[in-house]
Amino acid sequence: MKKTKIIQILIILILLSAALYGLWPFSLSENETGSLEVIALDSRQDLRTLRLNFPLDPLLTDGLKVYFLVERKYLDSIQEAGYVFTIETGCFQHKGEKSLRPQAEGTGGLNGAYHSYRELASELKSLATSYPTLARLYVPGQSLENRNIYALKISDNPGLSEDEPGIALLGGHHAREWISVEVPLLIGRYLLENYSREDRVRALVNSAEVWIIPMVNPDGLEYSILNYRLWRKNRRLNQDGSYGVDLNRNYSYEWAYDDIGSSPEPSSAVFRGTGPFSEPETEAIRKLFQNQRISAAISYHSFSQLILYPWGYLDQPTEDEALLQSLAQEMAGLISQVNGRVYQTGRAATSLYLTNGDFADWAYGFFRIPAFTIELPPVDLVQGGFLNSESDIEPIFRENLPAALYLIEWAIASYVSKGARAFPLLRRELEKKHEIMIKDRAGAAFKGKESR
Ligand SMILES: [Zn+2]
Repeated sequence: MKKTKIIQILIILILLSAALYGLWPFSLSENETGSLEVIALDSRQDLRTLRLNFPLDPLLTDGLKVYFLVERKYLDSIQEAGYVFTIETGCFQHKGEKSLRPQAEGTGGLNGAYHSYRELASELKSLATSYPTLARLYVPGQSLENRNIYALKISDNPGLSEDEPGIALLGGHHAREWISVEVPLLIGRYLLENYSREDRVRALVNSAEVWIIPMVNPDGLEYSILNYRLWRKNRRLNQDGSYGVDLNRNYSYEWAYDDIGSSPEPSSAVFRGTGPFSEPETEAIRKLFQNQRISAAISYHSFSQLILYPWGYLDQPTEDEALLQSLAQEMAGLISQVNGRVYQTGRAATSLYLTNGDFADWAYGFFRIPAFTIELPPVDLVQGGFLNSESDIEPIFRENLPAALYLIEWAIASYVSKGARAFPLLRRELEKKHEIMIKDRAGAAFKGKESR
């Protein structure tokens, strides 16, 4: 075994024992996530068949055991299918926020170098104030718990809507994917700080409108800092008493296409909500896209080291497969040159798993723009899964920077040659047609749900 691997496993074991003794912000409060359990399985069992048969949310592994989040109602069936597991929910509970606070003071808050909602808000405001000729802060909407969804616009004349392509860099759809907040934020900061000294940055900021939306799910993120580190969804109180809608299953394009790529069950980790854009957080993103001329987008997530492009809902190529593939490969090449890390590229449905109602399918489906999901490091659960360290932030940002700059430059070059005026017309027509279809499907889904 390599030395680095031993160290990684040791770190995970230390974190797990810290969680056991309540030193780490893990909790699964009985009334809020009562239908979920954390189970651990010996990694020598055939977990692939297990994952094909049951809806499991893989959390982390120490090499010997794999930890999954699963709905309690499946426990009997998993046992009947011959799998041996232990229930580990208790070790993900902490003994209250109080014990966590003192050690966190002065170290950037409970989540260390990662941004809480408040820290992000203050940093975005300070960037907008420091660079008034290059940046302006917008709030296209608010979360369920009334936090702002921030969108920092970076361009020359940021107060004007110029005839320039927009590029959207989004993060934090999923609460526990803290690194996905940092990457778009740092890219935005880089553009502002280097405008006056780098010709390349100046040219690109002058010819584009870059939208940085680092925290699509602020309520979930705060919950993952204060209560349950591995929380994923937003904080919607669902009809059955469970919490959360998966925001990256709540967009309208082919919403609820099937029950594999998203779930009609409120307690599921991939619950798609009661209708497309039922959540104010996704509605804010929709509003931004409807009012701006966005020509390309990257939605950052973690983990897996992947660059994914549509479709996610169906394993079929889009009309633009060749273009999307070549952009993804170009970005992966640029990324690997920085720290040597390899990001695989591919169609979302083939490379990861089926998803319906996600951001990238919607952005491509309605606006016909290149839209990518980038799954940031680590590459797998053994390397830490969702749990990046603080020292990961800088290198992961550094390796993603050239890929983002490349996509912005591509958007600028193709915008001029394509002419942008056709976009708004096309998308309104598409969206109208599609919403009628989706409404029918939502009606049907609800009828089905009542009989469950
Ligand atoms: Zn994610």
